[in-house]
Amino acid sequence: MRALDDLEYAAETSGGPAPDGRPVGDDVWALPQPMPGEHSPHYSLSYLIRDGGGGVHVVDPGFDSEVNHARLLRLLGEIAPTTTSPLASIVVTHLHRDHLGLAERLRHELGVPVALHRAEQESLRRLLAAAPSQRETVLANAQAWGVPAERMPELAAAADRAASGGTETDFRADLLLDDGEVLAVPGRRIRALHTPGHTPGHLCLHDLDRDILFTGDHVLPAIFPGIGLGGPAVDPIADYLISLDRVAALDDPASPLKVFPGHGYRFTGLAERVAVTRRHHLARSAEVAAVRREHPHATVWQIAERVHWTAGWANLRGFYLASALAQTERHVAHLGAA
Ligand SMILES: [Zn+2]
Ligand SMILES: [Zn+2]
Repeated sequence: MRALDDLEYAAETSGGPAPDGRPVGDDVWALPQPMPGEHSPHYSLSYLIRDGGGGVHVVDPGFDSEVNHARLLRLLGEIAPTTTSPLASIVVTHLHRDHLGLAERLRHELGVPVALHRAEQESLRRLLAAAPSQRETVLANAQAWGVPAERMPELAAAADRAASGGTETDFRADLLLDDGEVLAVPGRRIRALHTPGHTPGHLCLHDLDRDILFTGDHVLPAIFPGIGLGGPAVDPIADYLISLDRVAALDDPASPLKVFPGHGYRFTGLAERVAVTRRHHLARSAEVAAVRREHPHATVWQIAERVHWTAGWANLRGFYLASALAQTERHVAHLGAA
């Protein structure tokens, strides 16, 4: 894997402020959009694509904040200074607020149409319907997973925080995309690829003529995306592994794909990064399987405390604890389904 840009690489690895938006070639601009909160990553990457007629199409406008709104409009003014309404469309890779967020406001203000995958719209609907009982669901899960009573309050608090700044919204896209569909971007052939796993309706976008793959949160250069983060799914790990194969198959060694991810930095070496990502998840599955062989009646909690966590199990609190338990449960479900 090789970073395509030193500035982006340095910003990701040093944790400094988000770089300004700028051209990255082929009528595409990259715009890092800061995210709230202390969790890494600290920014998402939006992309602006100028079509043959001067219209600008945005991939993942970023988290909805005044700062990000201003950053995007400023860059838009630089790209298309003479056009009064240059924004032609928005396409969103998935429902998370750091990708979809600002799309709601831009549509409202500018009337720009927003597209996402059909299954993602359905996930949004289900998350909204489940939102009022989110706290009870988390606590019921925690009970079933064998979480000790003294750790319940921090999981409840994490659930409350997620519910107040989370993914539930009544957003309705103007255009629902299906797998293989070509986006309405004049002069460019950009194909939508359904890559479920991170969320049920996650999309990657393949610019066929320029060998660019916009990967959203499907494949990232510096972190491994969480799986099953878009509401209920039967076996999101199985979905994810299939979706990894799908994008790896696009990487032709003769003309390597340029990967434009949703966080971190742009890079080449997709097949290699997919292999590392796959190994990470398979190793976690193997660890969970080994614990279950030794302790067939272990709860999700007891399994989670026996597998390796980068930060160390004892250091996982609140949001991180909830996420570790949920990932463990998904591996248990995956092994059960295998
Ligand atoms: Zn995401
Ligand atoms: Zn993200």
